[in-house]
Amino acid sequence: MRVPYYYSTNPSDPDVYHWHDDCPTGKQIPSWNKAYGKPAGYRECKDCVKLG
Ligand SMILES: [Zn+2]
Repeated sequence: MRVPYYYSTNPSDPDVYHWHDDCPTGKQIPSWNKAYGKPAGYRECKDCVKLG
């Protein structure tokens, strides 16, 4: 299902934001690297779009 925007704060991860709780990429973000929001310059995750 759709959830509030979230992203990874790990610099080695791509600059994308997620909005689906079943996103395979999003699910791999550990809780300590997970932040909420949609940072400037970040793009929408393609997997979230497919799931949505
Ligand atoms: Zn995603």
